[in-house]
Amino acid sequence: FVTMGWLIATRSARGAAETDDRPKDVVAAAIVDGGRVLLAQRAHPADLAGKWELPGGRVESGETHAAALAREIREELGAEVEAGDGVGKPVTLPNGLVLHAYRAHLRGGTPVALEHLDMQWFTADELRRLDLDDVVPADRDWIPELCVVLDEA
Ligand code: C5P
Repeated sequence: FVTMGWLIATRSARGAAETDDRPKDVVAAAIVDGGRVLLAQRAHPADLAGKWELPGGRVESGETHAAALAREIREELGAEVEAGDGVGKPVTLPNGLVLHAYRAHLRGGTPVALEHLDMQWFTADELRRLDLDDVVPADRDWIPELCVVLDEA
């Protein structure tokens, strides 16, 4: 039984790795409203739990970035958004995923933290005062760019 368990575990691990031909892209939404940007507090994994991020997630095969952004925000915040311009530069994670941030314009509904621990609207001043330790590492470089977007809004 131990051998069988090992065989199954090995096969499923290998199978998962081989069949993960999904795009490496992750999209994140900068939803701006009334001079504030929405950040959400991750619930998982443990090392990122409680840290602020731009909400979003992985692009599925055959999906445009705009469609993925709309789907992720519908799933995570229950709101409808339309993707706009890119924000800052794409960020490559150590695991090879590439994160892209976009302006996201609210088109329907009111964002609610359905999958995050919490969400909060931040002014540019509040963003500047945010402790970077409390921000998901990949998203830290976007903070200055987000401040520019808010200052212009
Ligand atoms: O949210 P999700 O787990 O689907 O995100 C996929 C990957 O992108 C994870 O590794 C997550 O840490 C990363 N991510 C990020 N910053 C974001 C959104 C996702 O670093 N704003």
